[in-house]
Amino acid sequence: MIDNTKHKGLRQKLVKVLERKGITDKAVLEAINTVPRHLFMDSSFLDHAYQDKAFPIAADQTISQPYTVAFQTELMKVEKGDKVLEIGTGSGYQTAVLCELGAKVYSIERQRELFKLTSKFLPKLGYRPKKLIFGDGYKGLVEEAPFKSIIVTAGAPFVPNPLLAQLDIGGRLVIPVGEKVQIMTLFERKGPKDFEKTEFGEFKFVPLLENKN
Ligand code: SAH
Repeated sequence: MIDNTKHKGLRQKLVKVLERKGITDKAVLEAINTVPRHLFMDSSFLDHAYQDKAFPIAADQTISQPYTVAFQTELMKVEKGDKVLEIGTGSGYQTAVLCELGAKVYSIERQRELFKLTSKFLPKLGYRPKKLIFGDGYKGLVEEAPFKSIIVTAGAPFVPNPLLAQLDIGGRLVIPVGEKVQIMTLFERKGPKDFEKTEFGEFKFVPLLENKN
């Protein structure tokens, strides 16, 4: 697994592109600058790894566009040591970005093939999430709740209540909501029953799937 000066140069360019598109959080940009995205993709897409685009991975899924990863991560406001939950491990790229930020990461994937591949792959790069789980993200991870932040990396037709319930007070849920296109939505938990909702622009994700394995 090679990460050479050419890859590093391409990453720096990608970071510039993300800055131009409005990403300002230095820690997030530094994480993108560090994680070798090309290693999370099929080798036939190597040339595309540092374009700001989504790409196919195993099991008909996609690795999210870098801008989307950066945008969602920025909204999470991760601080070192935060306990965070990711729904949709996929390639593990977003997981790695969260590890770079010093978060204690729990991540759920419902496709066994991806779960297995990514569970083996992340430690090879030195990324050690707290726990990778094969399961249904709609349920969250009640035994580890509450979380400082929760990120959903697939398009949710509705906001699953367990995810709101598993947020810490002051916690943040970042979730793309919608069927064909999704509105990036932030829920901040202000009190036990008090959530503040903010909507951002449109994004396009693969669907968050229900009841299938
Ligand atoms: N974070 C990933 C994005 C992968 S795409 C990355 O950086 O590569 C979204 C992922 O969500 C897919 O891997 C898909 O299998 C998974 N997914 C879909 N429905 C899910 C569910 N109900 N629970 C957990 N994961 C789900």
